[in-house]
Amino acid sequence: MESDSFERPSVMEMPRAVMIKSDAVEEVGQLCSRYHLKGRAVIVCDRTTSEIAGRRVSSSLEGSDYDTEIIVIEGATDVSTWAVDELVEGRSNSFIIGVGGGRPIDVAKYVATRHDLDFVSVPTAASHDGIASSRASIEMDGRKKSIPARSPILVIADTRIIADSPKELLVSGCADVISNYTAVLDWKLSKRLKGEPFSEYAAALSEMTAKMILQRAGAIKPHLEESARVVVKALVSSSVSMSIAGSTRPASGSEHMFAHALDMIARKPPLHGIECGIGTIMMMYLHGGDWRQIRDALVLLGAPVTASGIGVNDEDIVEALTKAHGIRPERYTILGDGITRAAAEKVAMETGVIEGP
Ligand SMILES: [Zn+2]
Repeated sequence: MESDSFERPSVMEMPRAVMIKSDAVEEVGQLCSRYHLKGRAVIVCDRTTSEIAGRRVSSSLEGSDYDTEIIVIEGATDVSTWAVDELVEGRSNSFIIGVGGGRPIDVAKYVATRHDLDFVSVPTAASHDGIASSRASIEMDGRKKSIPARSPILVIADTRIIADSPKELLVSGCADVISNYTAVLDWKLSKRLKGEPFSEYAAALSEMTAKMILQRAGAIKPHLEESARVVVKALVSSSVSMSIAGSTRPASGSEHMFAHALDMIARKPPLHGIECGIGTIMMMYLHGGDWRQIRDALVLLGAPVTASGIGVNDEDIVEALTKAHGIRPERYTILGDGITRAAAEKVAMETGVIEGP
């Protein structure tokens, strides 16, 4: 993983406009012209999102006199980015729109950054904070990497489409936001023990966002546009906290390191936010905080909180816990320089994530 700069950011990059409403995809063209986006629109979709939104985005743009081109990618891989590269190579008069839950947005964001083009995010699900953040997660040579990228200039979230997305995606988005709790605790710890620069604003915004989701856990339901709206706002707010910090610190700590370790170990890794949710329960336990409150909120949201619930072995959880600190050694967290196998078994058992022998 690339390291985030520990220096204070001199430029905080954030979206210029965020639209969250029913049938927002019909207004993509209007919004792009209101914010003076010029040239040809390259629309990056995957097979599912081209059906549910890509074509509507394209006709909205055509209605506002834009030339459009749709490209359907397979995954967020280097190969996909090369295909989009070809479409924009030498054509600086273009901007890129990512239409998707995650992968098309990552690819669009990454290619736009590389070619210095504007990037518009049209999320079709609220499954993680990448929909508005300035990082792209791309698989390079078969390994997932988190790469600095530009923030979207516009975020256009259609609550009707997002409410229609599978329930697990919304739950994953909520859990990704709840993970801000332990991310901020880790950051504070590193500030105290290692003198790491710390932003009160970024930390407060990140924590408040997590609190909003935690307190509303019982009211957030899949297939409701109001819930989609609340979760999209929280994900955007998390991204803004990262923009203020100039790093992912406010929204990514030991629980994210655990999630990345599990990604590498599990045969079929669960959704990003779901892994982070389970990581947050265990890291909160290690911090000596109220881990039960985290677990109860996740349960209310409908998130699985056990190894069997996410379809991995107990051993995978223990191994991920002992390897997590090595994912990003320069980022100091409650995991320090690693925890023993016995300690890992204890935290996983005490929090009920694994059943134990
Ligand atoms: Zn995350």
